[in-house]
Amino acid sequence: MTLNTDDQIILDSIAKWLARDVAPHAMRMEHDDTYPTDMVAQMKDLGLFGAVIAPEWGGLGLSASLYARIVTMISEEWMSLTGIFNSHLMMAMCVEKYGTEAQKKHFLPRFCTGELRGGVGLTEPDAGTDLQGIRTRAVKDGDHYIINGTKTWITNGIEGNCFSLLVKTDPSADPPRRGMSLFIVEKGPGFTVSRKLEKLGYKGIDSAELVFDNYRVPAANLIGGVEGKGFHQTVGGLELGRINVAARGVGIASRALKESVRYAQQRKTFGKPIAQHQAIQLKLGEMATRTEAARLLVESAARAYDEGRRCDMEAGMAKYFASEAAVENSLEAMRIHGGYGYSKEFIIERLYRDAPLMTIGEGTNEMQRIIIARQLIERNPA
Ligand SMILES: Cc1cc2nc3c(=O)[nH]c(=O)nc-3n(C[C@H](O)[C@H](O)[C@H](O)COP(=O)(O)OP(=O)(O)OC[C@H]3O[C@@H](n4cnc5c(N)ncnc54)[C@H](O)[C@@H]3O)c2cc1C
Repeated sequence: MTLNTDDQIILDSIAKWLARDVAPHAMRMEHDDTYPTDMVAQMKDLGLFGAVIAPEWGGLGLSASLYARIVTMISEEWMSLTGIFNSHLMMAMCVEKYGTEAQKKHFLPRFCTGELRGGVGLTEPDAGTDLQGIRTRAVKDGDHYIINGTKTWITNGIEGNCFSLLVKTDPSADPPRRGMSLFIVEKGPGFTVSRKLEKLGYKGIDSAELVFDNYRVPAANLIGGVEGKGFHQTVGGLELGRINVAARGVGIASRALKESVRYAQQRKTFGKPIAQHQAIQLKLGEMATRTEAARLLVESAARAYDEGRRCDMEAGMAKYFASEAAVENSLEAMRIHGGYGYSKEFIIERLYRDAPLMTIGEGTNEMQRIIIARQLIERNPA
């Protein structure tokens, strides 16, 4: 993508922030699983909570291409931070894309400042990939709905105060997706966090189980004001979500490569830097090619998104390839670093723990390949 002056100013300020406020603290905070409260305040100042929301609502109105670059840069330093504003923006995009004028006016300016912030509540203990199998129910009661159910793995579930929530308003609908609706829910009586979920990586940021027990939400918070559109609205937000996860994958793959290129020139065995051994060169060559290919796939999907072209297959390809590149590069980086790659004093072990999440989030990679194949066939009828 070609950068204009404004884009460059934004990227420069992110780079400065990462060097000054993130890099010196990320390692310790990740190992302690400490929530990055100060960094969240700095991300608010940088405008990241309104990054892709239109300027008329107070956002930065960034293109998907520029947003993906930012996500990659931050992921090179500490991937967890991107989940804090990305899940939030997925919620915001549902309101901006599908909400009523009153909903946009009420929520979007508060999302931009981070006064209201949170994420997306889709997954349940018994349903992740198969979202039509969710059980959380919303029953109309005058000018409110009463919600009962449990959501799990919800990013920002503890620190956030507001979520887009996928529920069933008509459990007998056939197909089930026609009976699904999306609400904006703010924390209040009947909406509790039952537990924090411990995980392999993606530390610092909170993942939680949320319980709704006769929680009352105003009918005015039903996104778009019409029941039965929730599944469509959720799927409609996934393209940008997949581009974002792919951009995170590029960040991890790229950092693993950079660390490996540096280390391979410093570490000597048998009288020469390991970079001069062919076995290491083969690894570096593959890692660099994977990183570049992943970056180009992300750029191509983001460009299609920005131009308003259909990009479900392209976003799926970028997400699939870049997340696998992150997994492969982090493991290769560990091998190149030898014992130090396994040490908690180096970033490699963190990249290795963070990478697999990219293969799971925003649709697993098993599903991505199926989606790509279906699209391929649909676009190329015999
Ligand atoms: C750290 C973290 C953060 C998360 N954040 C959020 C969040 O903010 N909000 C949210 O709603 N969810 C979130 N999730 C949940 C995530 O989206 C789900 O874990 C994911 O969608 C997979 O669902 P599942 O875990 O139920 O796996 P399942 O759906 O049970 O899948 C299990 C396995 O079966 C495979 N599989 C399933 N169906 C098929 C099929 N038809 N064909 C082939 N293979 C198939 C899957 O690919 C997978 O390998 C998060 C998860 C994690 C780990």
